[in-house]
Amino acid sequence: MEESFNTVQSVQASEPIIEFSGVSKMYKTGTHALEDVNIKINKGEFVFIVGSSGAGKSTFMKLIMREEKANVGDVIVNGYNLTKMNRKDVPMLRRTMGIVFQDFRLLYDKTVYENIVLALRVIDASKEEIKAAVPAVLAQVGLSGKEDHYPNELSGGEQQRVGLARAIVTKPLLVIADEPTGNLDDETANGIMKLLFEINAKGTTVIMVTHDRRIIERSGRRAIFLEEGRIVTDTKMGGDV
Ligand code: ADP
Repeated sequence: MEESFNTVQSVQASEPIIEFSGVSKMYKTGTHALEDVNIKINKGEFVFIVGSSGAGKSTFMKLIMREEKANVGDVIVNGYNLTKMNRKDVPMLRRTMGIVFQDFRLLYDKTVYENIVLALRVIDASKEEIKAAVPAVLAQVGLSGKEDHYPNELSGGEQQRVGLARAIVTKPLLVIADEPTGNLDDETANGIMKLLFEINAKGTTVIMVTHDRRIIERSGRRAIFLEEGRIVTDTKMGGDV
C-alpha cells in the first residue's frame, strides 16, 4: 500500500505545472522583454528566478499570472493555456495561485484577520471554513494572537508573514513570490525563507524572484538566470539548507 502511494507521488513530482514553449514578449513600446523562452517547472519544485534589473523577471512572472500575454509561443500553467485563455477565465486561474509581494500589499485599514478572510471570500469559502482556516494559517506563519492587530502595528517581517498567510490560506497549487525578502533585514528574511521552504515541503510549488545571491547559494534549489530576456543558466545550486 505504502509503496504504491510513493509511486503515485513520484509520478506527480515530474508533472509540469508551468511550461513555456518558444515564448517571446514584446511590449507596445518595442521592448523585447522575453525572447524564445523554453522552460518546464514541475509540481513541487522550488525555483528561483534571478537576473539584473530589466532582465525580464517581472515579465516572466506576469505571464504566469496572465497579467501580460505572450506575443509568441505558449504559456501553460496548471493545465491552462494562457495564450489562448479568455480574460473572463483569468480569475479561475488566479485562484490556483497565491501571490506574495515585496511591499506586502496588505490592506492597512483592515486587521490581520480581515486581510486573510478577504482571500478566502474570493474563493467563496464558507463561514465554517473561514473559522477553521484563519487560526490554522496564522499558527503556521507564527502569528497566533496577532489577528486583531492592524498591519502598521506589526514589524516588516510580521507583515510579510501576513502576506504569506494570505497567499497560502486558499491552499494554492503554486506560490509566486516577487522579491518577498527585498524589504527585510537578513535575519527576518531567513525567517520568511524558512516558511517558504516549509510551504514547499508540504507540496506547494514555489517560484521566487530574488536578487539575494546568498539566499540562492545556500538553498540547494533550482535557479533560472535571465539576461536580456533569455534564459542563460538553469542550475541546481549547492546548498546547506
Ligand atoms: P526585471 O523584472 O528583471 O527588472 P522586467 O520584466 O520588468 O525586468 O522588464 C524587462 C524589460 O521590459 C525592461 O527593458 C523593461 O523596461 C521592459 N518593460 C517592462 N514592463 C514594461 C511595460 N509595461 N511596457 C514597456 N516596457 C516594459
